[in-house]
Amino acid sequence: MSFDFDTLKVQAGYRADQHNNAVSVPIYQTAAFALGDSYRADRLFSFSEDDPIYTRLSNPTIDVLEKRLAALHGAAGSIALASGMAAVSYALLNVAGKGGRILTTARFYGGTVDSFSSVFPDLGLEIDLVENPDEPAEIQKKLTAETKAIFIESLTNPFVTIPDLEAIADVAHAHGIPLIVDNTVATPYLLNPFEHGADVVVYSATKALSGHGNVIAGVVIESGKFNYGNGNFPHFEKPLWFLRDGNDVERNILQVFPRIPFTGRLRAVHLNYLGAALSPFDAYLVLLGLETLSERVDKQVANTKTILEYLEKNEHVSWVRYPYAKGNPYKALADRYFPKGVGSILSFGFKGTEEQKRIFLASTKVFGYQANIGDARSLIINPAQTTHVELTLEQRKLVGLSLDTIRLSLGLESAKDLIADLDQAFQTAFTDRRG
Ligand SMILES: *Cc1c(COP(=O)(O)O)cnc(C)c1O
Repeated sequence: MSFDFDTLKVQAGYRADQHNNAVSVPIYQTAAFALGDSYRADRLFSFSEDDPIYTRLSNPTIDVLEKRLAALHGAAGSIALASGMAAVSYALLNVAGKGGRILTTARFYGGTVDSFSSVFPDLGLEIDLVENPDEPAEIQKKLTAETKAIFIESLTNPFVTIPDLEAIADVAHAHGIPLIVDNTVATPYLLNPFEHGADVVVYSATKALSGHGNVIAGVVIESGKFNYGNGNFPHFEKPLWFLRDGNDVERNILQVFPRIPFTGRLRAVHLNYLGAALSPFDAYLVLLGLETLSERVDKQVANTKTILEYLEKNEHVSWVRYPYAKGNPYKALADRYFPKGVGSILSFGFKGTEEQKRIFLASTKVFGYQANIGDARSLIINPAQTTHVELTLEQRKLVGLSLDTIRLSLGLESAKDLIADLDQAFQTAFTDRRG
């Protein structure tokens, strides 16, 4: 039988009869697992049996999360990590190898953009930025012989721009390299990037995927369809001693993990040796959050539309950016790729002084002022001075991030209360204090 998304999100990857009949996924809070006899240990350590050995590498609670996320994407493999940044950095290190280049854009999560210049060049990996990712031809022009992947966000933060995934996937595949998509803002409920040509999908599970603002976690998922044996990825084809078989014959990644070369290598190399392992308790929290993903996102998308209408009529707002805002150029792509909605983030221009903006930010009572998105609670922030503070002035200009920008992440509260909250905060900001 094949099941729908909403069935998989509460059941996939778990059978109670394999876990002492526990109905809720148990938290296996243990560092190591008994090896049994030494013959079983031989099999475990030569990758011919994949039961857990040690929680840095795998754990039954985390395994349920990984299987559930793979099922939700119809994907071959998945690996959960300690944060979204671990997911991004391990995915890029895994695909590029030493001397590789990644082609991406400045329309990215601030921490990711900063890592492009602060971390990766020191690790032997160069990042190239496309100025206008809306033009697949521009992306094509920037490809080099060393480019090992194209990396984009499916919905960007804070301006909710949308790349033409299928056109970009075609550019990547014609070059023999995978398309890696950060699908954090969209969530798999609104978009399954694998249906549009992505080969690897990464998430910060900290955000809407878990949805309650109570855990830091990341995920890397692979389609299982990309051929890493096409000659562009020698690090996947090199025989390695630690991958040897029972007869001490060295093997390469493609031989040991034929179905899941990308996440197999990521687990055997990056998770194993760099070590950003998720805790079983945190995996449990992500599983719990996932159970209500569709219901939460539906309500958050509905709240976002209501707030959009409110802001578009507000005299203190100079512009609103959301694909369904008036005159927004991404509406056609939104209709095509996001029939269930384009998420719960939107940004607007605050029409007032810097001082009035600061009073406004300090005056909301329902919207929380904090650096996060995708929470059950509604959030507000001034990204240029906080979440995106790492962007250079040039990058800020490139993505159009001005100081008057205010970003909202809509939660699950009553839309009426959210509007009343913004109303009273605007009133406070625009009341003349000098009387
Ligand atoms: C938050 C975020 C990250 C980083 O995730 P953490 O879990 O905070 O490490 C990466 N990409 C996007 C799009 C994000 O929003």
